[in-house]
Formats: sequence, structure tokens, C-alpha cells
Amino acid sequence: MPSRLIQSVRGVRDLKPAEASAWRHAEEVVRSILEGGGYREFRVPVLEHAELYRRSVGEQTDIVQKEMYSLEGGKGQTLTLRPEATAGMVRAALEHGLHRGRHRFWCAGPMFRRERPQRGRLRQFHQFDAEAIGYAGPDIDAELIALAARIFRALGVDGLVLEINSLGGAQCRRSYRQNLRAYFQDHFESLDADSRVRLDANPLRILDSRNPQMSELIAGAPDIAEFLEPESARHLSGLESLLASIGLPYRRNPKLVRGLDYYSRTVFEFLTDRLGAQNAVCAGGRYDGLVEQLGGPPTPAIGWAMGIERLMELASASPPPERTRVYLVLLGGLAVQQAGLQLAERLRSECALLDLEMHCGGGGARAQMRHASRSGARYAVIIGEQELAVGEAGLKDLRSEAGQQAIPLAELPRVLRDRADRTIPAHG
Ligand code: ATP
Ligand code: MG
Repeated sequence: MPSRLIQSVRGVRDLKPAEASAWRHAEEVVRSILEGGGYREFRVPVLEHAELYRRSVGEQTDIVQKEMYSLEGGKGQTLTLRPEATAGMVRAALEHGLHRGRHRFWCAGPMFRRERPQRGRLRQFHQFDAEAIGYAGPDIDAELIALAARIFRALGVDGLVLEINSLGGAQCRRSYRQNLRAYFQDHFESLDADSRVRLDANPLRILDSRNPQMSELIAGAPDIAEFLEPESARHLSGLESLLASIGLPYRRNPKLVRGLDYYSRTVFEFLTDRLGAQNAVCAGGRYDGLVEQLGGPPTPAIGWAMGIERLMELASASPPPERTRVYLVLLGGLAVQQAGLQLAERLRSECALLDLEMHCGGGGARAQMRHASRSGARYAVIIGEQELAVGEAGLKDLRSEAGQQAIPLAELPRVLRDRADRTIPAHG
């Protein structure tokens, strides 16, 4: 009896090869835009101490209270699969002294949160992440936002709305929080269960509620704009005028807060209406207190995180054509296989723009030609016993009706190089 199939974990997805190649293209676009802007890749681990998230993301957040995947790390340690990247980046920057002066970093990779899986919401999902440490802004705020917008354009994602807001400094958030608590306290009977819990712990997070029954009450709540201290108000209007100077449309949303505790001043989100309730594709903000909170000196910083699954659902730009692909058809026994393998080695060494797939597993001419066209190859190179005897190979353009051409084996690399030069369009 065959054994039972093991299924993938709920909320965790496989990327089939066609998807993986679209992702690779997106990764390449993001890498070149961010590296081009002076951001350098910082590869930080997936596994961190649970305490890192308790101290940065915050005890009262959904992430820390119910979404972390934690495991026993021995010696009484609790380790956590990272639910987000910023805390780990800051931890790593501090550990390696890369928090002094100014640093721009980016990273990409999987994040883990125990959420209810649905479209656009997974338990293992992926993010691109950009962080600028040591910058007080608002110039860097505008630049980071502009780079995210550039990534969306390059990948053909349109129709996103950029919302911005300021959460002010610690002092103004304190008075706003008091004010907000008083307002919601007055409407206690209209609060849903989640919001009642948040009322004491962090009333700002009530604004984050997705419950439509809460939206009217939230709309009537006081705005943080009235509480911003002059410095934060200047910062926000600086950001607004910088965004305006590059013609990047945005909307001020005075009720935009972010779910994590470490944000201050600038917060922003790129929103879509095409992914149901999962409307944020990229979200970020300033976290001027985080470096200090994690044991470093006071250091201003800002970052964003872009959800790759949501990004890829919206991306329309198709990956650029791959390199010219050649399929090597081998019709014969060991002697033909030897000549074929030698030719494959030579073409792979001498033709940088070619991908070469060598047929393996034998079979007749028709079957092998069928494999050739299914492989997506542009050309088939055919070697049989007859061709071998006269030192030639057949070359067939699989996108043309014309028959095959005999080419001396010695000239094949040059001929294929010429063809590849002509068929690869310049990357736009
Ligand atoms: P949401 O409001 O959708 O729960 P969030 O505020 O929890 O998002 P962030 O922590 O800001 O999300 O993460 C940044 C981005 O990562 C989000 O805008 C989204 O694109 C993506 N993201 C977050 N959680 C998930 C998830 N569970 N599955 C897929 N993508 C996610
Ligand atoms: Mg969330």
C-alpha cells in the first residue's frame, strides 16, 4: 500500500518554477533599485531571541501576544522565527557597530506569523525591507518612499494609494493617547472586544481596527495632528513638500497608525483595493527610539517593509526574456553522447549568452524534437551518427518553418554566439 502523502503546512506556500522565475525578476529589480540608491544588503538570520521582539515590536501587539512562532532554544532560552525584519536589522547593526554614523540597509526573506491564513495573508510570507539608520529626515523619509514607488513602477504595479501621517514624538503621543482614551472611554459601550482590551494597553491601536462597525466611532476620534509638537509638524510638512516636489501623489490620513510600538513621527502605507481586506502592500515609518530601546545610543532611523506575495499578485510587468536557449538533440549511441557532452561543455564555456539543455534519456528524433520545443528553446542543435561522421551538426530555428542547416562543429560556437546577439533584446 502506498504511504500517505505529506501536505504542506497551512498558510505556507510552495513557489513553482514559473513563479520562482517571476520572483527572481522582482528580486533583481528591487536589488538594483535599492543598491543603486546606496542601500546595501544585510543578510540577517531568521532565528532571533524572543526577547528582541518583546522589547521592540512591543508586548501589547498582536504579533507578540499571539502570532510569534517560538521554540525552546535550550538553557532556558526562547527563540522566535522572525515576524518582521526591522528589529533583527537593528539588533545586527548594533552588534556589528553599524549603527554609528549613517547606514542604509536592505534585506529580503521569509517572515513568520501565526495568523488566520487567507488570500494575501500567510503564515510564512516574504518581505523586501529597507532601513536607513542614523538619518533624521525628512529628506530620507521622502527618498525611501520614492524608492518604494520606483519599485512599483518598475514592476508594473499601479493604482496604489500612498497614505502618510505623523505619530509625533513621545510627548505628543502621550497627550494624544490620553485624549484618545478619554474619547473611547466615553463610547465604551460601542467598542468591540478587541478595542476594549486595547483601550488600556494602547488606545492608538484601536485606530488600527479592521472591524467596519468601529469605523464611524474611529472617524469621530480626535486627530493626532492637533497634538503634534512644532518639531514633528515641521518634519511632516517637510516630507509633504518633498513628495510634492517630485509629483508623488499622497493622501494625509490623520488616523493612520501602525500596529507596532516602535514607530514615531512619519508613518506611511501603500494601499491597494485589489486584494480584498489585505490592502497594504508596503508599510513603514520612522522609529527614532528603537536603537536606544535595544541598548544603543539615541539614533534616528526609518524603514519600510514590502510584502512580496501581495506585490507579486499586483505585478504585471513580465520578466525580461531569458537568455537564448539551445536544446541539444542526440541521436545515437555512446559515440554521439560523447560528442554531445563535449559540445555541451564547449558551448557552455564559450557562449556566455546561451543556455544549453542537453537531451538525456535517449529516444527517437520526433520525441527529442518534442522535448526541444517544450523546453522553450529557440534553437535545436542536432547530432546524429551521420552528422558526426562528417564533423557537422544540424541547426534548427524552432520558431521558423525553415529546415535545419548543416554547420561544421568547429564553427557552431561562433554561429550560436552571433544568433544569440541578434535574438536577445536589450533589457529596457
Ligand atoms: P496587515 O495590516 O495587512 O496585517 P501589517 O501591518 O501587519 O499588515 P507589516 O508588519 O507592516 O504588516 O508588514 C509589512 C507588509 O508585509 C504588509 O504591508 C504586507 O504587505 C506584508 N504582510 C504582513 N503580514 C503578512 C501576512 N501574514 N501575509 C502576507 N503578507 C503580509
Ligand atoms: Mg498584521
